[in-house]
Amino acid sequence: MKIITVLDIAQIIAKHGFNQFMLDLVIYLKQDFANWQHLDKSPRHAIHVPDGVIELMPIADQQYYAFKYVNGHPKNPLINKQTVVATGQLSGVTNGYPLLMSEMTTLTGFRTAATTIIATDLLAKKDSHTLAIIGTGAQSEFQVRAHCLIRDITTIKYYDTDPLAMKKFAANMAETYTEELNNKKLAIVACHSAQDAVDNADIIIVCTACKGHVNVLCNDWIKAGVHINGLGGGCPGKTELERSILPRSKIVVEYLPQSIIEGEIQQLTPDEVSTYVYAELWELITGNTAGRINDDEITLFDSVGFAVEDLSVLRLVYDLAQQYQIGSELDLIPNLSDPKNLISVLSVF
Ligand code: NAD
Repeated sequence: MKIITVLDIAQIIAKHGFNQFMLDLVIYLKQDFANWQHLDKSPRHAIHVPDGVIELMPIADQQYYAFKYVNGHPKNPLINKQTVVATGQLSGVTNGYPLLMSEMTTLTGFRTAATTIIATDLLAKKDSHTLAIIGTGAQSEFQVRAHCLIRDITTIKYYDTDPLAMKKFAANMAETYTEELNNKKLAIVACHSAQDAVDNADIIIVCTACKGHVNVLCNDWIKAGVHINGLGGGCPGKTELERSILPRSKIVVEYLPQSIIEGEIQQLTPDEVSTYVYAELWELITGNTAGRINDDEITLFDSVGFAVEDLSVLRLVYDLAQQYQIGSELDLIPNLSDPKNLISVLSVF
């Protein structure tokens, strides 16, 4: 079975290219979302602990079974640890044998950004040029770089309550977009507040990590025509949007049974959910349901992260690891000539 480390992922990205990986992932995601009716789906299994949540995210299609182990501990940066870390596995469904075990912290950054740009592409105005991001932590550069692949972004406005996170984001953006910045094709604007950041934005990404119902985004600031990606919910009792934004928005979710528990829509009553949730993302991807239909709609992708996104990224990594011969083959399961003679593995020493 193939083992893929963080360094292996860095090597795959170096060979394949960040943008190409993101764009190929969009293709894999669209294939898997289009296969929605055949996926064996369930809301993720969450164990809530005092300072966070630890989750298992399983899914299967006709060929593969995949799962991700992931946490969410918003206070971790205070002890110099990441809020979100993850590992995952891909197995074949015909015999259940594991094929690949991988780091998935970096892959979560990729798959979340790739899924988000699919939603943005279907829901944001075509002439969206100003992107606002609130929360410039681990996910932020993945999100912004992905959005620059699908819209002609000329201004990026950003805000975080942590000045060091803003400094880190600015440095990473300057390194990525040196040429565009020198040619004045792109403005990267540090903002003093979330309100300042979203002013005049066409697309707003909110990816903070507060545990609690926090109005990171307030209703008064939201103007007609804007598209919002709300990414930092993902757990009961954890939301980022003022409730009154929801009835004004055309809301798209990944998988309703999970989003009701974890998304911004946990703030709605069951009747309100029926009224205001417009569609699941797969319906837009397959063209069963229209995305944005006019320039005045407020659209909201209420993203909590769903297991199919992990399946897609694991499939892509499995294919690329074979293509570039990256990763290590390790016996995490016995390799027996007689499948009933398990005890024979102990006679090696
Ligand atoms: P992170 O801790 O690295 O970054 C979060 C940032 O938000 C921090 O820099 C923090 O200072 C900032 N912040 C906190 N409160 C704020 C506020 N009120 N205003 C502005 N900034 C604020 O975490 P991350 O890995 O970037 O994840 C961000 C969020 O996205 C988390 O809630 C995580 O659970 C969620 N997430 C969602 C998905 C998905 O699929 N939807 C995937 C990964 C992560």
